[in-house]
Amino acid sequence: MMNNQGRPTSADGAASTNETGFASYTGSRGLSQVEGLIYEIGDTNRTGVDLPEVEDFDNYLGGMERTAEIGLAGLTEPEAMRHYTRLSRKNYAIDLGLYPLGSCTMKHNPRLNEKMARLSGLGDIHPLQPVSTVQGALDLIDTLAHWLKTLTGMPAVAMSPKAGAHGELCGLMAIRAALEASGDARSIVLAPESAHGTNPATAALCGYKVKPIPATKDGRVDLDAMKEALGPDVAAIMVTNPNTCGLFEREIIEIADAVHAVGGYFYCDGANFNAIVGKVRPGDLGVDAMHINLHKTFSTPHGGGGPGAGPVVLSEALAPFAPIPYVIAGEETFELVEHEVDGGQSFGRMTAFHGQMGMFVRALAYMMSHGADGLAKVAEDSVLNANYVLASLKDVMTASFEGPCMHEALFDDRFLKDTGVSTLDFAKAMIDEGYHPMTMYFPLVVHGAMLIEPTESESKQSVDQFIGMMRHLVERAKAGETERFTGAPFNAPMKRLDETGAARNPVLRWRAGEDAAE
Ligand SMILES: *Cc1c(COP(=O)(O)O)cnc(C)c1O
Repeated sequence: MMNNQGRPTSADGAASTNETGFASYTGSRGLSQVEGLIYEIGDTNRTGVDLPEVEDFDNYLGGMERTAEIGLAGLTEPEAMRHYTRLSRKNYAIDLGLYPLGSCTMKHNPRLNEKMARLSGLGDIHPLQPVSTVQGALDLIDTLAHWLKTLTGMPAVAMSPKAGAHGELCGLMAIRAALEASGDARSIVLAPESAHGTNPATAALCGYKVKPIPATKDGRVDLDAMKEALGPDVAAIMVTNPNTCGLFEREIIEIADAVHAVGGYFYCDGANFNAIVGKVRPGDLGVDAMHINLHKTFSTPHGGGGPGAGPVVLSEALAPFAPIPYVIAGEETFELVEHEVDGGQSFGRMTAFHGQMGMFVRALAYMMSHGADGLAKVAEDSVLNANYVLASLKDVMTASFEGPCMHEALFDDRFLKDTGVSTLDFAKAMIDEGYHPMTMYFPLVVHGAMLIEPTESESKQSVDQFIGMMRHLVERAKAGETERFTGAPFNAPMKRLDETGAARNPVLRWRAGEDAAE
């Protein structure tokens, strides 16, 4: 229900009564204002800009021009500023607090990155500019490529994929092109049960059948089961290392050798590269293709400054099939190859242009400011922080696997047995404590998974506070304070949302008169 300012009234029950129990006139709490959607507070007759009347002019729209009102919600400039600033205050962000999302590597994004990305020579250029005017940008792409090849020990890198999943697609398309070029089209891709959902999805999108490989009791790929699944029809195996249980695959070389022995390729999901950057070179492990999430390992996590980038390093065998466009360093200048050369084997083009330039700048700024030794320290500190969390919580929570972890610590819900509290309830109670929840229910190989990745950017004090908060919640759950969890979050702007309903039936468009804000 809305009052006449487009604000929810207390009848909505949405955080509109204060501690003393009385409802405020506005529905707001403290200095946190409540308001409706932009279409509810805006007015199609109002505008924040003053444009001159359009003189008579000829249009070339062939009768396709709009005749009805455009119907955009109009706000004055201060109203528009306030609306979006208020929305931003409802968000949690890496710049507000620890963000323990496992598998996501939500680390601090240094301000230096942002400064570099906004330099006009990098931020204001256009991909269609003459190549002679963007030599610096091409130099930067080439330098970043050099760092990526050096860190991974791989001979080639495709820079244009725009996310991790897009990089997976690039890697598998290169593998498929290589197999087809040798007249050996195959039909199966193996993926461990703990794989990120994007791995089997990518394989399926490329037309492969996905065969899952079970995990061992210690959370790693079952080598015997994998060997049994191998055969002349296996195009590739996709393995994340360190894997999504936060564990290093000890038998990674045996896995690579076994898949190579049957003529298949080893695709490594490199999203967890943060744990081993500067320490282990995937090329030395027998990897044929691996994407690197620049937006995880090299800062700017999701929500921390824009889109992602997923360059893919490739082995000698796969390099000829890399997508266009790519940059080549000539004697004096950099060139951009936009079209496949005669007799070339590139599988084609994945993106309109050269990739995510802003992310390239940020990643290179991050690498250069850390230096090679600093990047190795990133891996050390992220592993140390995760093990500190694991060691400090495993007496009250249930660690899923024995022994130390890499950059993330995996717990399951056995410690909540008989408390009436689920992993989801526990996560919602963390929101009331001012923390973004950890990754839940992933990986699927354990029940009610809680995957915590503190990253290296957190100080000991900050990790200690997180651990203290977690221990407190565990105690409360075990003491039978069930409602505190099942009713949580109590202090957030919105309560429990029907997340499944929202995913299954997304309401993507606001329509007048319909209650889309549910
Ligand atoms: C994040 C992630 C991906 C996908 O990367 P996006 O950039 O989100 O597409 C793939 N695999 C793993 C293990 C990941 O953590």
